[in-house]
Amino acid sequence: MTSTAELIELSERRSAHNYHPLPVVIREAQGAWVTDVEGRRFLDCLSGYSSLNFGHGNPKIIQAARDQLDRLTLTSRAFFHDQFAAFAAGLGDLTGKDMVLPMNTGAEAVETAVKTARKWGYEVKGVAADQANIIVMEDNFHGRTTTIVSFSTDPDARGGYGPYTPGFKIVKYGSAEAIREAIDDNTVAVLLEPIQGEAGVLVPPDGYLTQVRELCTENNVLMIADEIQSGLGRTGETFACDHEGVVPDVYVLGKALGGGVVPVSAIAADAGVLGVIRPGQHGSTFGGNPLACAVACAVIDLLNTGEYQARAKELGAVLHERLGRLAGRGVVAVRGRGLWAGVDIDPSLGTGREISEALMRRGVLAKDTHGSTIRLAPPIVISEEDLLWAVEQLAGALEDL
Ligand code: PLP
Repeated sequence: MTSTAELIELSERRSAHNYHPLPVVIREAQGAWVTDVEGRRFLDCLSGYSSLNFGHGNPKIIQAARDQLDRLTLTSRAFFHDQFAAFAAGLGDLTGKDMVLPMNTGAEAVETAVKTARKWGYEVKGVAADQANIIVMEDNFHGRTTTIVSFSTDPDARGGYGPYTPGFKIVKYGSAEAIREAIDDNTVAVLLEPIQGEAGVLVPPDGYLTQVRELCTENNVLMIADEIQSGLGRTGETFACDHEGVVPDVYVLGKALGGGVVPVSAIAADAGVLGVIRPGQHGSTFGGNPLACAVACAVIDLLNTGEYQARAKELGAVLHERLGRLAGRGVVAVRGRGLWAGVDIDPSLGTGREISEALMRRGVLAKDTHGSTIRLAPPIVISEEDLLWAVEQLAGALEDL
């Protein structure tokens, strides 16, 4: 059985319908291009929701994985292994933090940040037991666990999953004033995405992150930046917070940290924060496993060259300039930074889904986020020629509708 129709039919029949994938079945990929089971090639402009920043099959990452697969893949954290120290020190150096705590998925890293902030609040800040609150943003996306969906404002993500975890205050994204008003003596953290990815690549107003940093410092509150989608090169800097020269207390990382090969996530913070977690108080069987650490070390090496950040910045300028030319030609607004764009399409032309399908027919894979917004996030290794071609296909797809 190899046909697209047969594979989709079996997948849909035998798995939960928690996603609505485009009707393409991918078999292999290299760089920015994927090939489906029928031999058709598509330009990947989603990058596994920014997990494939370094491209499909990046030779350095694959080599690191291969070498590690032959030696040692899992020990659990019951023992040390020889890849762990380099990973912890490498990620600590990349983030400028004393310590890291590795997990696997993004949601687990967010949970880790929430738990760490609460514990820090009780043990260091002196908040009374069970009274801690964390300020979060409207339209956030931090993952799918019951605690995380408890503070989602997306009815699809949240609905039907109660009872919900208390202890979160939701404020308007982009307003430092809203945070100032919400902070009280029991506030232990402000958790935000420096650019809101799933909400449609929403870039906050200039100076917002700086103001949040100042507010957190003034009030002895941890600033937690969820850089799971925005971090690791995507925006033209190592972290999206770097655009304002802001250093959060806690970085939350995932997606591209695993090089598109294995799930690797982590939080990074100084010892005064992460030191509150002691043996037995948090963990994960697979978190920080040898294969994950070897792959993440290869990713960190790539980022330490600075080449990917520079390339995302350079190609990002090209992308945004070309997308800007589509304004008034079916495009209502374009947002983003670096090689990451949220493109709002005139809703009278069609839904985001219809546009994604039209793009797919033209050989470009991208996905709608909300309503009529298309997210473009190609692997940073994409050639300029292919990037321009993708924008041409978007222009064409808008005419096809
Ligand atoms: N945080 C942000 C900002 C994300 O974009 C995502 C995933 O899209 C997550 C957290 C959750 O990551 P995961 O799907 O690996 O649990």
